[in-house]
Amino acid sequence: MNELVESIRERYLITLGKIAAAAIKAGRNPDSVKLVVVTKSQPVDVVRAAVEAGVNILGENYPEEGVMKIQSLREFSAVEWHMIGHVQSRKAPLVAGNFNFLHSLDSLKLAKKLDRFCGEAERKLPVLLEFNVGGEESKGGWPAWDEARWQELSAELGEIFTLPNLKVRGLMAMPPLGDTAEFSRPYFQKVRHFQEFLLAQFPQADLSELSMGTSLDYEVAVEEGATFVRVGTAIVGARKK
Ligand SMILES: *Cc1c(COP(=O)(O)O)cnc(C)c1O
Repeated sequence: MNELVESIRERYLITLGKIAAAAIKAGRNPDSVKLVVVTKSQPVDVVRAAVEAGVNILGENYPEEGVMKIQSLREFSAVEWHMIGHVQSRKAPLVAGNFNFLHSLDSLKLAKKLDRFCGEAERKLPVLLEFNVGGEESKGGWPAWDEARWQELSAELGEIFTLPNLKVRGLMAMPPLGDTAEFSRPYFQKVRHFQEFLLAQFPQADLSELSMGTSLDYEVAVEEGATFVRVGTAIVGARKK
């Protein structure tokens, strides 16, 4: 193993250990949390090293960059590629045709396009619905910061559940950036409450996955019910500008 692979492997294993400890602390099964290693803006060499270090789920933010990496690393067929960044609807074919999972579905328009392209490619795409729980304008996702307005989201979300080629699996959120991990906790709790609300509205839906938590706050996210955490810098280092 070269040095880069070794250092990524060490940080990957430390992160897995902290996830397991946080799960146990919260009375959860550590196997119920999946670690997505976020490699956006990292060169292919770093992504390759991550795979050689044992990483099996990679997260990318930009469709073209992600597809380029998927094509460069085709030999690693067991690796899952997750799109976690905002997808413009004109990029829907790239995502529908190449990624294994979409965490950041944030509009009905995008959902319909993805459904159509998945149908043409004869694929089913598992997706998470992204919600904005902090109210920041810069963040994507359906507006869910105000509980009094949750009901208004139901009609549009209900339509997404009927699309035949998308498999809705749960919720995703990216809270406002704070100075400490604890700052994120109430946002993660809000995501879980919203999950309960939606399950009451759509008892047939599968909303079991919660994608939340980054390098800064993934242990708190696990304590609050995350089933996917998305960790970049803590494992693969700082992103190149
Ligand atoms: C970049 C990014 C992450 C990872 O952030 P780190 O601070 O590097 O762990 C997670 N989720 C999303 C949506 C991101 O864009």
